[in-house]
Amino acid sequence: MNPQNVNQVTLRREIKIEGIGLHSGKRACVTLAPALPNTGILFVRKDLEQETAIPASFEFVTQTRLATTLGRKNSQSSATISTVEHLLSALKLMGVDNATVTVEGPEVPIMDGSAMAFCEAIQSAGLYEQVGTAKRVTVLKKRIEVRKGDKVASISPSSRLHIQARIEWTHAAIGTQEFQFTLGKDDFRQIADARTFGFLKDAEALQKMGLALGGSLANAIVLDETRVVNPDGLRHDDEFVRHKVLDAIGDFALSPIAILGDVNLVKAGHELHSELVAAIFASPDNYEVKLLSDVFATQKPEASVAGGLPAWVTAANLQRVY
Ligand SMILES: [Zn+2]
Repeated sequence: MNPQNVNQVTLRREIKIEGIGLHSGKRACVTLAPALPNTGILFVRKDLEQETAIPASFEFVTQTRLATTLGRKNSQSSATISTVEHLLSALKLMGVDNATVTVEGPEVPIMDGSAMAFCEAIQSAGLYEQVGTAKRVTVLKKRIEVRKGDKVASISPSSRLHIQARIEWTHAAIGTQEFQFTLGKDDFRQIADARTFGFLKDAEALQKMGLALGGSLANAIVLDETRVVNPDGLRHDDEFVRHKVLDAIGDFALSPIAILGDVNLVKAGHELHSELVAAIFASPDNYEVKLLSDVFATQKPEASVAGGLPAWVTAANLQRVY
């Protein structure tokens, strides 16, 4: 399989995924469907009186506390969709450019707190290469940085999307962890199963306020004062920082056209990730949109791995349309 695919990619068929909502604790359901070239990822609330489409773009981020929420007001009502980041990350990890995501209700299901269930569903559906529709990318013209206290997020020009993340917690079970990942080159399994995490004392406070009612040991790593509470422990020793990288890929998908760059994150989270994406698009001096084929043409092959079809794709689960 060509590791430097320059055509746009969508899903080969529709997939329905069910679970529960993190906030409501009630059943939540999403349907992923193939979409036309240049659609990007488009969320749709069909359960509302007025059907509302919300593009996966930083302009529609309304909240970043606990999870990333997208929202859009129309003439009669406002629609929101919460907990979009792990699904967005899965779509990018699996190489999907265009998809429609229909959500029944205000939340994407939390599944097990990671992106693995979404990745497996996409894998089972297979991909559809939209041959003749060139993949476009956002390329940085200069380094951009945002800071909040000791939290830093920066991006530098590159022909790939590479994330380097560092977290520093005083909690004994977390401590300092670092991880790096290149989209389209590294195996999605390195980060796809890394779960979100939270602290028992925060969970109790949130649930008293009627929030995170669906949160449980089934969909998060939960920590008490000293240790991980989940009976089965961790999936990776550094699962916490792997999850940060997963979140960052989802948050960087909040761009109408895929961003390439070398990203460096220190103690950052959803809020700072979204601010960095917004900072890139704040001025046309910061970026330009190119065809991925043109980016590849000026790079050494080994340096150009962004946007390629991931290694999991084989002739059996890829359909090309001419
Ligand atoms: Zn997360």
